[in-house]
Amino acid sequence: MIKTIESHNYETSSIPCLLYKAGFTSPIVLMPLPYGLSHPDSAPDWVAEGRLVPFSKAAEIQASTHSSAWHFIWQANRILFASQEKSLPLRSIPGGLQPIRSSIIGEFDGYLCHAHDIAPDTPAPEGYEWSGLRALFPVLDAGMVNLAGRSFQIMEWDRTHQFCGRCGTPTLLRNSERARECPNCSLVSYPRISPVVMGLVVRGHELLLARSPHFAPGMYSAVAGFIEIGESCEQALRREILEETGIHANHFRYFDTQPWPFPHSLMIAYTAEYVSGTPVPQPDEIEDVRWFSVDDLPTIPPTISVAGRLIRAVSQHLKAEPVV
Ligand SMILES: [Zn+2]
Repeated sequence: MIKTIESHNYETSSIPCLLYKAGFTSPIVLMPLPYGLSHPDSAPDWVAEGRLVPFSKAAEIQASTHSSAWHFIWQANRILFASQEKSLPLRSIPGGLQPIRSSIIGEFDGYLCHAHDIAPDTPAPEGYEWSGLRALFPVLDAGMVNLAGRSFQIMEWDRTHQFCGRCGTPTLLRNSERARECPNCSLVSYPRISPVVMGLVVRGHELLLARSPHFAPGMYSAVAGFIEIGESCEQALRREILEETGIHANHFRYFDTQPWPFPHSLMIAYTAEYVSGTPVPQPDEIEDVRWFSVDDLPTIPPTISVAGRLIRAVSQHLKAEPVV
């Protein structure tokens, strides 16, 4: 079910209606998109539910005593899973595997959750396989994808910050927080998070969807791009939508966020309203971009991604509203 937050400010609705009555004939959204659209397939918030306690300090990790453990075992960007069960996490480290680094990522339902890094080219033990996390989406629920992604991002950061970026000295893990510090020049490196804005542009009952060359055949999604230094989310949205599609958009409204561990993004999703322009795909970035009626959408991302939930929530919302 779609629900709206009661505190939504409907004052903005008068602006497009007045424009329409004044004879402004460009396609505009007459029914404002509410804040707080939600989708039933959103990942469970295990932290808010009190089931997951993320660990961010070495001191907490050393003080922990648990008899039960979960293990997320990585080799670069591939995770180990049992061939028969096809599920995560593992309850133990398979015999013969020697992690080259390990970290505790938190406690889930009383299980201490470990992330491990295995040396490149180490073969999977008998009965196990290495796999990209995306390939396991069909067999994992959204909460487990989030937890596994958290483990990957911590291992990826630890693996790539073993040496100081300023003077080259081997770094040390800080006790007071999850950070690596240079003992020579004191440079501190925190886990890297790269924010990405996503904008779903709406024109009446149509959505602006684009496809990148690396998408699965026939799949379209909302426009997305990294925030550049010095930009606000809204400035990045306006720039990315214009660069990738040739469309001017405004009235950005927050939808949802999602950590996206490929390799360390945070997706920040918005709806946007069409202002002007004709869809023109950005060369080398966008293969095709066009308007789709909410009644005739192409293949869109699955609901395990915020893109899939955004497109479904907005299209369901628009279908429930008559065109004025
Ligand atoms: Zn240094």
